[in-house]
Amino acid sequence: MAHLIPVLVQTPAHSQIGGALTYQSEASLPPGSLVRVPLGRRETLGVVWDGAPERDPALDASRLRPVSAALDGLPPLAPNWRQLVAFAARYYQRAPGEVALAALPPQLRDLSQAQLQRRLRRPPVSRTATASAPDGGASDTKSAADAQALALSPEQQAVMEQLRQGNGTFLLFGATGSGKTEVYLQCVQELLQREPSAQALVMVPEINLTPQLQQRFLARFAPVFGADAVVSLHSGMTNPQRLRSWLAAHLGTARIVLGTRMAVFASMPTLRLIVVDEEHDPSYKQQEGARYSARDLAIYRGQLEHAKVILGSATPSLESWHHSRPRAEGGRYTRLHMPSRVGDQSRLPLVRRVDMNHQPRRAVIAPPLLEAIRQRVAAGEQSLVFLNRRGYAPVLQCGSCDWKSACPHCSAYRVFHKIDRSLRCHHCGFAEPVPRACPQCGNLDIAPVGRGTERLQEHLAELLADLRRPGSQTPDAPLGSPVLVARIDADSTRRAGSLQSQLAQVHSGEVDVLVGTQMVAKGHDFRRITLVAAINADNALFSSDFRAPERLFSLLMQAAGRAGRDAAISGHSEMWIQTFQPRHPLFEALKRHDYPAFAERQLLDRAGAGLPPFSFQALLRAEARTQEAAQAFLDAASTAAQRQLADLPGFDQITLYPAVPMAVQRVANVERTQMLVESPSRKALQTFLTAWHGLLHTVRQGEAGRGLLRWAVDVDPLAI
Ligand SMILES: [Zn+2]
Ligand SMILES: [Zn+2]
Repeated sequence: MAHLIPVLVQTPAHSQIGGALTYQSEASLPPGSLVRVPLGRRETLGVVWDGAPERDPALDASRLRPVSAALDGLPPLAPNWRQLVAFAARYYQRAPGEVALAALPPQLRDLSQAQLQRRLRRPPVSRTATASAPDGGASDTKSAADAQALALSPEQQAVMEQLRQGNGTFLLFGATGSGKTEVYLQCVQELLQREPSAQALVMVPEINLTPQLQQRFLARFAPVFGADAVVSLHSGMTNPQRLRSWLAAHLGTARIVLGTRMAVFASMPTLRLIVVDEEHDPSYKQQEGARYSARDLAIYRGQLEHAKVILGSATPSLESWHHSRPRAEGGRYTRLHMPSRVGDQSRLPLVRRVDMNHQPRRAVIAPPLLEAIRQRVAAGEQSLVFLNRRGYAPVLQCGSCDWKSACPHCSAYRVFHKIDRSLRCHHCGFAEPVPRACPQCGNLDIAPVGRGTERLQEHLAELLADLRRPGSQTPDAPLGSPVLVARIDADSTRRAGSLQSQLAQVHSGEVDVLVGTQMVAKGHDFRRITLVAAINADNALFSSDFRAPERLFSLLMQAAGRAGRDAAISGHSEMWIQTFQPRHPLFEALKRHDYPAFAERQLLDRAGAGLPPFSFQALLRAEARTQEAAQAFLDAASTAAQRQLADLPGFDQITLYPAVPMAVQRVANVERTQMLVESPSRKALQTFLTAWHGLLHTVRQGEAGRGLLRWAVDVDPLAI
């Protein structure tokens, strides 16, 4: 007799197919088995799911379609993995099939049985081939140093001891340069040596950070556990690479998986330790499809697997900080503290605030800051000038009429890029050459307004034009060579490999001053930079986004952390901040490198305003050709909730706010509107969202869904 088998397949977003589909099979297939099944006219990859198959009594079982094939040779996906997927789908309001199939390597879908068997038989990667540094010789010395466990500072030792003794989730609050990575490495090492089959997952926020981390882990562990023991998993890999890493993790040959947020779904049957480095980073939140937080799922997964979870940061998210308060006050994580930088003489950079109220009105770089940069150049040291806005100028404006370089498709201005003389929209990508004259009145005098990284680079090069690089005099250039001001941002690093080559230029000392966006503040080690300056730090102080101060503080702390990581010169490294609000508590706390004081004040504010982590939020977003259509859908969704869900347990704890257009209301001719749902109870919010989801489908099909292009629910949104 044929078995009835529930199978999850990839279904279109918001299709009415919520759970598993039922197929029949001659063989009994355990949950977690990967199968190929017919779906419509095509054949697709599916995962045999848990629970009894849905049986519609009216349906003749003999008419159910059979499973086409099982992927032989692959062990089933583990119960914990399936539970993780089911939880993520439920919590983030998506179909389990969408979450499950997105978590599998794309190539698995197209592999024939014969191809799969070949890959399963393929011998592991040769050790000699990969045990050497993967990125060539540039960091050989560092790799050699990484091959041995480093001697730990007393702070690191104390933290290690707490990690050995404890269980559950830990927040490792450690200053930049305090040696968090060494703690991760030694925790992983102890685990892998103690338990011969245990696996560890280490996550970082950015793809760019994975090569250097992989190199450190390989150097340390390849000699002990073999080169196959360490694999990466991130979206920058090719499909064959991803499949290879995924198989190694799933089969247990990989002991360590390094990756970005997608790695939280890696199939690791013997997972015992999860590290989430820079846990505060917004990149851990997926911004499309299932909008999951990989950090939050890591904590959930840790509980499921009884694995330790280490969240690391110098500026933790306020959520994690709050959850790591003392147990007696309700805290759930264990807070571990490493305040000091590792190494002699090393101390945190001095923070200097420049009161822009007392500087020449048009000064972009205040005179005292310029003088400080000139001194660094003269001493052969490097400076990093940080401005979070790329392009030459954010707007081009006509001097005689009111024309501005608005994007015709978005409610935003197009940015002037001088390098290719283009006007580019950073929201929809629409680009045109800069017009010769004002398109509205013909005036030739159209001028850039404001400043981006390109213009800042040009400006700094002019301000430093009279300087020569120390020691650069040669018979050919008796006066020496000019100062080099380089720039690293999303524009300068568009080509593959260009970020690496530009970073190498900075490391080799060819660059005197580096201009960059937040891209350079993250994770990269600039050992020779002794001065970091934030040119325009005030924007975030008055943002309508309640998370803006948290992000600014963490960005500035990270930027400061770039300065002087070489112990020999960190004695005089400095962080300069240009501000019109020098007495602002955020800058006061920054000056003292006092994250706890900053966090305490922010949490008080948030508690007073009933904001996360003291409440829980979700957004319903709608996109349509007209603002009216988007609004109509949200209004109808709200009305339906009030009318039909009023009896739901906990509904009295739900606040539905009115629909409002998003900050950039129109992008690529699509109008965007959102509605906030808030509750002091996570459970009440979850109950509500689940019940509401069904209603939303109905509203979508009805009159109020006309003209609607897309809708989505974002649970625990990061930007409101
Ligand atoms: Zn004009
Ligand atoms: Zn646009």
